[in-house]
Amino acid sequence: MKVVVIGAGIMGNGIAQVSAMAGHDVVMSDVSPEALERALGTINTSLGRLVKAEKLTQDEADAVPGRINTGTDLAALCTDADVVIEAVTEVAEVKHEVIGTAVANAPSTALFGTNTSQISITSIGATIGDAADRLVGMHFFNPPVMMRLVELIRGLRTSDETLERAKEFALGLGKEVVVCQKDSPGFLTSRIAAILRLEALRMYEEGLGSAEDIDKAIRLAFNHPMGPLELGDFNGYDTYLHAVTALEKAHGERFRPTVTLKNMVAAGRLGRKTGVGFYRYDENGKKIGPA
Ligand code: NAD
Repeated sequence: MKVVVIGAGIMGNGIAQVSAMAGHDVVMSDVSPEALERALGTINTSLGRLVKAEKLTQDEADAVPGRINTGTDLAALCTDADVVIEAVTEVAEVKHEVIGTAVANAPSTALFGTNTSQISITSIGATIGDAADRLVGMHFFNPPVMMRLVELIRGLRTSDETLERAKEFALGLGKEVVVCQKDSPGFLTSRIAAILRLEALRMYEEGLGSAEDIDKAIRLAFNHPMGPLELGDFNGYDTYLHAVTALEKAHGERFRPTVTLKNMVAAGRLGRKTGVGFYRYDENGKKIGPA
């Protein structure tokens, strides 16, 4: 099966890697050649870690890069795609543009998945005519290589067959699936994640505790593997600000972004991907201390 992944950032490179690990031929497409270069480096590092952790044999790992091609000409890359998954910036217009190009150039049987965290699948579908029945939300989690869940979201026009194909594809990657039956912004997962982190940001602004203590409290009290602020560093605060801004429009005041969040994004303190968020990171993305 040929899988085209659009966007080679935090999520795109992971989705490309799991697809290639499952034996698919993968093409990663991005507007930025540097992002594609970085993505290939990230995949190689990840494969090395999986071998070290004995989750993959060296032979299995060696076969993966050969299944991943890259390019910037999305239209040309889609012509023989079976599955197209977009993981571009969380901005509706950008999603519309790339899905539109993919639909115009891919075979009429291709399946289209969007990895949006909260944008309406139905609204993206409304820009692609009859192909809307082949569009489904395919929400992977960060990092896609480690996280077991793929949340599938049914848009108003998503067909049963499309949902089934998406399920089969995700199960074939070794993932578990849940289905959000109604296309409501934030789906089953992002609403909860957004509200937990917003409350942590508000507590931080009120001076109730340090970022480290808020994270530690949530980790140890509720058995979360990461606290909400460190997880925000991991996921990228620019993406989170896009998400909560849209969730506020959809669900109201309780998703209003905080001042600290806006300031961090304005200052480029996006988290791990820029080396600093609530914590600092070295060039390999390893946490080295508080910001
Ligand atoms: P990111 O900023 O790391 O990567 C986005 C990539 O899209 C960049 O490489 C950028 O160059 C590329 N891009 C932008 N415009 C493009 C275009 N027109 N054509 C091709 N490529 C383009 O973002 P991310 O964190 O990987 O998020 C991607 C998507 O996944 C978003 O919809 C986000 O909401 C969703 N998501 C993110 C996370 C997370 O933890 N970061 C988790 C689940 C879902």
